[in-house]
Amino acid sequence: MMDFDLTKEQQDIKKAAKEFAEGEFTEIAEECDREEKYPPDLVKSAADLGFIGINLPEEYGGGGYGYMEKCLVSEEFFRVDPGLGSVLISATFGADMIELFGTEEQKKSYLVPITKGEAVMGSAITEPDAGSDVSSVRTTATRDGDGYVINGNKMFITNGTVGAYFVVLCLTNPENRSRHNRHSVILVESDRKGFEANKLRNKLGIRASDTGELTFKDVRVPKKNLIGDEDRGFYQFMDFFNRTRIHVGAEGVGIAQGAMEKAISHLKERMQFGKYLSSFQSIQFRIAEMATRIQAARNLVYEAALKADKGDLDHELTAMAKWFAGETCVRTAEEAVQIHGGYGYIGEYGVERLYRDSKIIEIYEGTKEIEKLIIARSMLR
Ligand SMILES: Cc1cc2nc3c(=O)[nH]c(=O)nc-3n(C[C@H](O)[C@H](O)[C@H](O)COP(=O)(O)OP(=O)(O)OC[C@H]3O[C@@H](n4cnc5c(N)ncnc54)[C@H](O)[C@@H]3O)c2cc1C
Repeated sequence: MMDFDLTKEQQDIKKAAKEFAEGEFTEIAEECDREEKYPPDLVKSAADLGFIGINLPEEYGGGGYGYMEKCLVSEEFFRVDPGLGSVLISATFGADMIELFGTEEQKKSYLVPITKGEAVMGSAITEPDAGSDVSSVRTTATRDGDGYVINGNKMFITNGTVGAYFVVLCLTNPENRSRHNRHSVILVESDRKGFEANKLRNKLGIRASDTGELTFKDVRVPKKNLIGDEDRGFYQFMDFFNRTRIHVGAEGVGIAQGAMEKAISHLKERMQFGKYLSSFQSIQFRIAEMATRIQAARNLVYEAALKADKGDLDHELTAMAKWFAGETCVRTAEEAVQIHGGYGYIGEYGVERLYRDSKIIEIYEGTKEIEKLIIARSMLR
C-alpha cells in the first residue's frame, strides 16, 4: 500500500510554493499572458528561494529533493497560473538529461547556472516533420575533427529564444539498422555561430512561456558537448520523458484544482432564480465529479512520483497519470467556464485563461494518444 500522507517537510514545501505563487504571480499573470511576456525576474526570485531545480542534486545547487517534492511545487504553481508555472518549471527543462547522463564536468558547467537562476535551458526534440514519432528526427550532427557540425530545424521549443543552451536530439548514425540507435543528445549553446531562434507567437495558452523555432546552420560544437553515449539519444530521451511526465501530470492536477476553486467561489456568490448557484443540485453534482476526478488524478501522479523516488520508474503508471491529469484539467477548466456563465468567457475571472492553458497538458511531452499507446502496449503485451 502506498502512503500518500505528506511528510512535514513536504507540507512545508507545498505551503511555500503556494505562498510564492499567490504572492508573486497574481500581479503579473494577466499582463504576461496578454502580451506574451516572459518574466526573467520571476525566475531569479524563484531560484533564490530554491524552487528552480528543487529535484537536482545539492552539489550542483539543487534542492536535493525528489519527484514528489517537484510535483508539489508544480501543482501549486500551475494552480495559480499555468503560464508562469510553466516559465518556472521549464527553466530546468533538460537538466535531468544532464544529471542522468552527463559527465561530472558537464553537470558542474550546465546545472549550476540553472539552479542559481542565472540561465534557463531547454530540450529540443520536436521538428517540423517529427513530433510524436521521435525516431524520425532529421537534424544532423556530423563528426568533423574533434567535434560535430549540426544542421536542421527544431519546432515548438520551450525557452527557445531565452535559453542559454539546449540538449538537442540529433541524427548521428542514419545508417544504423535500428531507427532507435541513430540519434545522440548534443548540448548546443545558443551563442554558437549558426544558431538562430525565432519566437512563436499567438499560442492558445501558457503565453508567458517562451516557445521558439530553432535553426542550426553549420553549428560547430566540440565532442565534449555529447551528453551520454553516441547513438543512444532516443533511449536517453525516452528515459528522460518517463520521468518528466510525472511532473506534467502534477501540472494538470494543479490546473484542475485552480479551476475547481474558482468555480466553487463563484457559485457561492452568484445568485439566480433567488438562490445561490451552489444550491442547485445539478451544479453540486458537477462539483462532486470535478473533486473526485481531481483526487483520482492526484493519486495517480503521487503514486508515480513516490514509486520513482523509490527507484521504481513505472512507465505505464506515469502515462496513466499524465493522460488522466491532462483530461481532468481540460474538463475541469471547461466546467469552470460553464459555471461562470458569460463571466467565464471574458478575462476578468481568470477561468478563461485556465481553460486556454489547460490544453497544453494533453499535447506536450507526449500527446494523450501517445500516453494511451504506452498504456495499451503494456496491457496487451
Ligand atoms: C507550447 C509547446 C511547448 C513545447 N515544448 C517543446 C519542447 O520544449 N521541446 C520539444 O522538443 N517539443 C516541444 N513541444 C512539442 C510537442 O512535444 C509536440 O507538439 C507533441 O509531441 C506532438 O507532436 P506534433 O505537434 O508534431 O504532432 P503530431 O505528432 O503530428 O500529432 C498530431 C496528432 O496525431 C496524433 N498521433 C500521432 N501519432 C499517432 C499514433 N501513432 N496513434 C494515434 N495518434 C497519433 C497525436 O496524438 C496528435 O493528436 C511543445 C509544443 C508546444 C505546443
